[in-house]
Amino acid sequence: MFNKILIPNRGEIALRIIRACKELGIKTVIAHSSADRDSLPVQYADERICIGPGESLESYLNIPHILSAIEASDADAVHPGYGFLAESIPFVEVCEASHITFIGPTAESIKLMGDKSLARQTVRENRIPILPGSNGILKNVKEAKEAARQIKYPVILKASGGGGGRGMRVVHTESEMESAYLACQQEAKVAFDKSDLYLEKYLERPRHIEVQILGDCFGNYLSLWERDCSLQRRHQKLIEESPSPLINQRFRKKLAKLALKIAKSVHYISAGTIEFLVDGNLSPHFLEMNTRVQVEHPVTELVTNIDIIKEQIRIAEGEKLSIKQKEVSISGVAIECRINAEDSENDFLPSPGKITQYLPPGGPGIRLDTHIHQGYTVPAYYDSLLAKLISYGKNRDEAISRMQRALDEMVIEGIKTTIPFYKKIFSNPLYLKGKYYVGFIETILENENEK
Ligand code: ADP
Repeated sequence: MFNKILIPNRGEIALRIIRACKELGIKTVIAHSSADRDSLPVQYADERICIGPGESLESYLNIPHILSAIEASDADAVHPGYGFLAESIPFVEVCEASHITFIGPTAESIKLMGDKSLARQTVRENRIPILPGSNGILKNVKEAKEAARQIKYPVILKASGGGGGRGMRVVHTESEMESAYLACQQEAKVAFDKSDLYLEKYLERPRHIEVQILGDCFGNYLSLWERDCSLQRRHQKLIEESPSPLINQRFRKKLAKLALKIAKSVHYISAGTIEFLVDGNLSPHFLEMNTRVQVEHPVTELVTNIDIIKEQIRIAEGEKLSIKQKEVSISGVAIECRINAEDSENDFLPSPGKITQYLPPGGPGIRLDTHIHQGYTVPAYYDSLLAKLISYGKNRDEAISRMQRALDEMVIEGIKTTIPFYKKIFSNPLYLKGKYYVGFIETILENENEK
């Protein structure tokens, strides 16, 4: 059993990990920036260590400072959450070399799956369907044009080290390629310190469906089935649900089988997610693997009744998965809205600042994962996620009506939030029927602007 876990992270995910640790009887140390000094996770953790100023590079991404915090607090494991160092090969390697347990996969698995172009290669060798695309990294614009000509436009250029919906450009014609290539390369260099690009066929109106998996140190694997994350804006997820309203049991099993094959091929340990794009003919194509816990993990927790964070911790402690695949069933429907500090009436502009009034929603079937409270000041340094509002119902209709009620109850004043935007989505007839796709939100916003 771990005695103490250090969490070099912030916001709702830091709080989520602290809560799991408390339930397991494990002490927590939060390694936080000075900008987060007054936050709830810093208050709720058993111990706290400031690792630097607000800028992430000097605090949450500062490996030497985090290692010093681990040593000073005598923590025996580190849970990275998502973002920051969760998929950092140097950080995982240094933890492995220093005999600090990293609660997540090995550096080797992250190497194979963290680079998106290499991951495509790895899964192709395992006969998993991928979208047609370039053979690995593109050398130059000429090669990009040749690859695109072969697979036919539209194509999407992607940074191999990319994430969070950044470092991608859709290219519709050859005349757009050069400028798109250079812009994408530049963005990749700045955001990910690596300008490698690859390209693949761009699918119009696909569904984004991903499979949550767990793997232990003994080669046992479980699929916790799928989440539908097609509701995105600019390739960033906004609403997720489990199960997907699009697929049947047969297709569900097919996706899970593909996901487990991928996880096994890289000897994956811990919680991970395999993302697929599903086209109009219901054919799945591997998109990427996320080698960490994801923001949207609660919808899976609610329908499977499995605590993913606790499972991650138990796996890292060297325990065997205690559940059998046939015991993992889906019961009911769960939907998550990512409530962001953004002005949805004004091109989703970030809206940091002080929360002057806060009334959280509650009642049957509502879970709220958040670090905010009345009087909390949202810092401008980090991403804009304020809260994950999750509804659960015995069926989709009940989950939707609970979400509608909770959105009406929830009050956050002093800053702009995306609550009004979600109210619109939850009254859209096509959304209510489950007939949505990647690009659905952009279509709604364009229609609104035309009116
Ligand atoms: P990231 O690592 O930044 O999350 P992904 O490769 O997972 O990037 O893609 C994020 C989103 O971008 C997908 O969910 C989808 O909406 C869109 N996307 C990515 N590749 C394609 C593609 N080939 N065709 C259509 N949409 C795509």
